[in-house]
Amino acid sequence: MDSKKPNSPARVAIVTGASRGIGAAIAERLAADGMTVVINYSGNTRPAEELAHKIEQAGGRALTAQADVSDPAAVARMFDAAETAFGGVDVLVNNAGIMHLAPLAESTDALFDSHVAVNLKGSFNTLREAARRLRNGGRIINLSSSVVGLYQPTYAVYAATKAAIEAMTHILAKELRGRNVTVNAVAPGPTATALFLDGKPQQVIDHLTKLAPLERLGQPEDIAATVAFLAGPDGGWINGQVLRANGGII
Ligand code: NDP
Repeated sequence: MDSKKPNSPARVAIVTGASRGIGAAIAERLAADGMTVVINYSGNTRPAEELAHKIEQAGGRALTAQADVSDPAAVARMFDAAETAFGGVDVLVNNAGIMHLAPLAESTDALFDSHVAVNLKGSFNTLREAARRLRNGGRIINLSSSVVGLYQPTYAVYAATKAAIEAMTHILAKELRGRNVTVNAVAPGPTATALFLDGKPQQVIDHLTKLAPLERLGQPEDIAATVAFLAGPDGGWINGQVLRANGGII
């Protein structure tokens, strides 16, 4: 990759679910690394706009893009908007996701359908557009989860969608042969965001915090650094891999 050459044009990255949490940290980090970023979100306009403003104040370039990733037409429009604004797309970070936990026997159809729609179909929708449109030399990074290895009770539906994302990662990496596009997944462990913290009793959070030998919760910036490695010049030889970024939890 030549993104460090002073006169090369900025690479363009779409980060889904970038209004908050891990996605916001990824967008900020990729912008700091010199990429132009498209900040996707589903409903929370204000934090997305604030993040774009913060990035531009720091000398970066950012665009916000409302699109429910489960809607294929909205995803196509988002790619259209990125191409119109910046001439093309080089990096897709498939970060948007939801997690609602319940024992399988108590999981409702609505719980199942929403996870499949956002986590699985949403990733499929963006991967399909990226597979068709990403410029040669591009990078795709999907967000999986270390629960795919941990298999804890109550995670059945969520973990199933993430396992599917890992399967698509391996297959798409092979399908993109000849384009110099890498496809990898990052699988975080417990990370301090609303998705992880909301609704959990403090003792559960304390327990999960101590599971990793590094004895702390992941921070969004830890995951952003891992994604930045895979998206940047030093990660170019990593392809078709799942990188668990979790402090050693599994
Ligand atoms: P948050 O709940 O903090 O943020 C979720 C983001 O996804 C928000 O920006 C939200 O946008 C966006 N989003 C949700 N639904 C949609 C949709 N249908 N279309 C577009 N955007 C959507 O989650 P995290 O930052 O914690 O998680 C990010 C990713 O990391 C997820 O894929 C998650 O599964 C994965 N992960 C997280 C772990 C953790 O411990 N936090 C551990 C392992 C994996 P809006 O603000 O508009 O709602």
